[in-house]
Amino acid sequence: MKQFSGKTVFPGIAFGKTFLFVKPDLSVDAGPADNPDVEWKAFQEAIRTADDQLEALFEKTQREIGEKESMIIDVQRMMLQDGDFLDAVQSVVKDESRKAAYAVDKTGREFYELFASLDDPYMQARAPDIADIARRLTAILLGEKTDFDLTEASVVIADDLTPSDTLGLNKKLIRAFVTRGGSTNSHTAILARILKIPSLVQSDVSLDKEMDGKFAAVDGHEGTLYLEPAGDVLKTLNEKLKDDRAEEVSLEQMRGLPTLTRDGRKIELAANIGGVDDIDAVLANDAEGIGLFRSEFLFLGRNSAPGEEEQFNAYRKVAEALGGRRVIIRTLDIGADKQAAYLGLEKEENPALGLRAIRLCFQRPEIFKTQMRAIYRASAFGRIAVMFPMICSLWELKKCKAFALEVQEELKAQGVSFSKVELGIMVETPAAALCSGELAKEADFFSVGTNDLTQYTLALDRQNAKLEPFLDTRHPSLMYLLELIAKNAGLAGIWAGICGELAADPDLTEKFINMGYAELSVSPVFILKMRKRIREMQGAV
Ligand code: PEP
Ligand code: MG
Repeated sequence: MKQFSGKTVFPGIAFGKTFLFVKPDLSVDAGPADNPDVEWKAFQEAIRTADDQLEALFEKTQREIGEKESMIIDVQRMMLQDGDFLDAVQSVVKDESRKAAYAVDKTGREFYELFASLDDPYMQARAPDIADIARRLTAILLGEKTDFDLTEASVVIADDLTPSDTLGLNKKLIRAFVTRGGSTNSHTAILARILKIPSLVQSDVSLDKEMDGKFAAVDGHEGTLYLEPAGDVLKTLNEKLKDDRAEEVSLEQMRGLPTLTRDGRKIELAANIGGVDDIDAVLANDAEGIGLFRSEFLFLGRNSAPGEEEQFNAYRKVAEALGGRRVIIRTLDIGADKQAAYLGLEKEENPALGLRAIRLCFQRPEIFKTQMRAIYRASAFGRIAVMFPMICSLWELKKCKAFALEVQEELKAQGVSFSKVELGIMVETPAAALCSGELAKEADFFSVGTNDLTQYTLALDRQNAKLEPFLDTRHPSLMYLLELIAKNAGLAGIWAGICGELAADPDLTEKFINMGYAELSVSPVFILKMRKRIREMQGAV
């Protein structure tokens, strides 16, 4: 038995086979080829292998996800045979006498740039496909693994996981994950909580090949990973698992009860979700609504953006499932750690301070419009509210509202029905917090994103594991801003909630409620626990 320790992101006990998730090193050798003919043959063989892989992936996607998504793979298969691409690779191999992997990498980059610069949106959207194909061919030529998927209940071990990595894996088969890097406030950590996956970050886990495919157990309470756990350890873990289940059963008594403080204040206890798949957890945990639907998760782990119809179906499904309870959809908050290659975003020095969220939506209005149309159409099927992320200034909110109005008018003219949609904002920048008095006059509600508000107030990158010693979630500046936001909301007569991870910190619940927050939105798994906590507290002083 071997054991490793790390920082818990979500407690709980899990068992599974280890799956070593190591992203391949695809750096290529720019030196001359020994024999260009051999390289050209290797390339042709790689094309055949890639085609076989894509065929298998096409069938799997068609079977497990859907016809439409599988077409993306089909397009890639066609592009693999594109004459211009093949000629360009051949010229690098034969005329420049370079190795096949280098030729593919170089040609892939050039074609990517070319497609991305075209005016036709369809051709533009093919740029990431070219990048994908080049990556696949390079990996084959370098003898590296290309597709990652789990085939059995697994404990995923990785250096780090991005949200796309996590979403790309079969969520039903991830029993736990343990990473060397990562922070407890990252989106991957948030995903782990939503999915109830016991997980550890900043661990000392080894990434040796021998770690792969072994039976393992994770104790998320202690922050320990056991590789091939001994009998007595297994016995203890099974007892802990029993205790966890008993605790879950005891919390069942909270089901169906109103979330009231002892002195009768009603608090709305809502859930944070990332997609339609999370509805089961929301309903199973008796949430009173959805306080944060991170719509960008619909855009991650895929090769192209979801269109209006696909988004409409997702929002409609959630709205219908919640049957009259409010569903707050946050508009696309992509950028920073949430990247989608197909958007072709430029690499930034400081992505957290970069072109993300609403800033990106303003620069790419077609994406914003598609999403807003889908949301408004879905509003006819439930109680939908919208909130805009990363707002700093009043003009941004006004522009969002004007955009919403434009979409409504367009739908009206087309005879498409929709309902009234509350328009609120995420307060997650110090700028928004400090001018919350002005913003409150224009917004229907505030939802405080404490994850980013903490990051920006303390100038502390939420992705950087090394900064955790400086992370002070009780920092007086943060508490001052939280108080100010609630006060300004109250003065303007709008409601304020909290949807960042701090909303689930039981030691702060009383403080938040006393500040005037009327809604807390947390991972579904914390709903019953938080209801118990709120029902035990005395209420406003
Ligand atoms: C936040 O910033 O607190 C928040 C809820 O949004 P996200 O974590 O997705 O950035
Ligand atoms: Mg945020």
